[in-house]
Amino acid sequence: MFCLKKGPYQIITSSSHLDECPDLPVLCGCNEKIPQCSLVSHNETCPKAIIPCEYNTVGCEKRMKREEQEKHNEEAIKKHLEVAVKRINNLQLNLDVAMKEIDALQLLLPTNQVIMLNKYTKKKEQDDNWHSPGFYTSRGGYKMSLHVYPNGNGIGKGTHISCYIRLMAGEYDDTLEWPFQGEVTIVLLNQLEDKNHKKYTTSFDSTYKSSQRVREGRSTSGFGRIKFISHEELEYNPVTNCQYLKDDSLYFRVSGKATSKTKPWLVGASGVIQSKC
Ligand SMILES: [Zn+2]
Ligand SMILES: [Zn+2]
Ligand SMILES: [Zn+2]
Repeated sequence: MFCLKKGPYQIITSSSHLDECPDLPVLCGCNEKIPQCSLVSHNETCPKAIIPCEYNTVGCEKRMKREEQEKHNEEAIKKHLEVAVKRINNLQLNLDVAMKEIDALQLLLPTNQVIMLNKYTKKKEQDDNWHSPGFYTSRGGYKMSLHVYPNGNGIGKGTHISCYIRLMAGEYDDTLEWPFQGEVTIVLLNQLEDKNHKKYTTSFDSTYKSSQRVREGRSTSGFGRIKFISHEELEYNPVTNCQYLKDDSLYFRVSGKATSKTKPWLVGASGVIQSKC
């Protein structure tokens, strides 16, 4: 008797128990007698069980008895190679798509530019003004530059440094929204420790002339602060442990953040694809 259950013989041999007895032997297709309860685990190794080809992950769709796999592998070398090559090409395509998506995501990250102005004293004495190289608010974003008057201009002349942000003609202007709306922060760095930096945030409003798109070769008015910092404040201050001017150089950090009121979903987009019809 196969049943491992203990109990009155009449109950164990009753047909209602036999139906549910876990130990009831069942004849498998491989000619083995398997206790009912072990059928599932036996199927994992049974040579007659129908299984997908072991190359199904690369694209072979054949199903066969387990014992036929080896023979199938020998016969299907060429086919398996072909589907594998196709699979690799698809992966490459997916990778390209993923890389593009990563690029698009990076567009959303604001950039943080550190800009160095050197030979400050000379520029100040010659009453020069200085344009930083152009930079982008984000990858694929607005191009701008920092405009510094070391000796000040307007009402700041002779007493203050004046700082402005100027929009420039940029590579992505066609896909960006105009006029530029957003915030630009100019930070003059304290060169002694990472605090007490001199910070000024300016908002670009659509009504400003300086928010308009700039065409290549044209210059535009800037937007910023005439009295950004006084000349005295640049020097070493032991009370606040501040020194903005050191080795005749100033360091600025400029960050920009575009905001769009009409098309917020476009902020940071790498471009707009238009349909033909
Ligand atoms: Zn039983
Ligand atoms: Zn079997
Ligand atoms: Zn196969």
